[in-house]
Amino acid sequence: MKTVRLRAAAKINLYLEILGVRPDNFHELVMVLQSIDLADTVTLRAAPTTGVRCSHPLVPTDRTNLALRAVEVLQKHTGIDEGVEIVIEKRIPVASGLAGGSTDAAAVLVGLNALWDLGLTQGQLQSLGAQIGSDIPFCVIGGTALAMGRGEVLSALPALQGVYLVLAKIADLQVSTAWAYQTYRREHLGAVAAPRARTSALLSAVASREVARIAPLLHNDLERAVLPAHPQVSALRERLAVAGALGAMMSGSGPSVFGLASDRAHAEAICAALAEDPSLELFVCQTQQAGILFAESQPSSLQISHE
Ligand code: ATP
Repeated sequence: MKTVRLRAAAKINLYLEILGVRPDNFHELVMVLQSIDLADTVTLRAAPTTGVRCSHPLVPTDRTNLALRAVEVLQKHTGIDEGVEIVIEKRIPVASGLAGGSTDAAAVLVGLNALWDLGLTQGQLQSLGAQIGSDIPFCVIGGTALAMGRGEVLSALPALQGVYLVLAKIADLQVSTAWAYQTYRREHLGAVAAPRARTSALLSAVASREVARIAPLLHNDLERAVLPAHPQVSALRERLAVAGALGAMMSGSGPSVFGLASDRAHAEAICAALAEDPSLELFVCQTQQAGILFAESQPSSLQISHE
């Protein structure tokens, strides 16, 4: 029986600016997105019926799981009616601004393209992903990218590979992406505006690949919505800075925050400074240039069953 196993990378936002609300009610965004080596493992196996299994209590196993939505979209597009069992080993914190659900869905698109031998191009997979969620086209390709529109219009940026960072999250705090955007919209948003000058400053810093130039230019408009409601996230961001991070910022709609480091030893020192706090989840990560990677093939003894 055929099995495909993939590593589905999380992303961080080096930059997130909300330009306004579009006529279709989505937000017009400018983002710089970066894949990191924190990843879920997604295993796909041909099966008589389609289902998803994940041991994380906050991940739904019904049709609202984005991985199942990806199967549905692909079945509709190709007319294929085969079943697939999906097992998600969740390492990316859930509802944390790291695109965990989106990257699982991207892995399903990439994995089924191989399992069902569909021959779809990366562009086709990205278009199908955009029907499910705005972050999915980036997750399919990964790396370093400028994202515009509602996040699905992508331009590749010079690869920012091997940059160390510390990712920190208050373990029992989740933030809904919809809530963060609605709060920002209610309190801060006017008509669609032109991008601010700092976008181009960050882009040239990314092109230089110098972390020390990038760090002071990190920006996330959603901090204005999330930090006042969750002062402990603001405090955590500050603790990363005090521990020596070159720059610290909330990722996406939060509440995870990250601090950039000059090298691995520096990242480990920052992590060690926070490690005694039992309320935190901490990860030393590296930026990477792939979104979805095929893992080594799975032994045929793998047991996957319905719950
Ligand atoms: P983004 O950064 O794209 O806004 P996020 O990282 O903040 O997303 P997710 O981890 O994708 O958030 O989870 C948001 C919600 O989506 C969860 O609370 C969960 O109910 C739902 N969800 C659906 N499918 C998944 C999945 N495969 N993994 C995690 N959450 C999922």
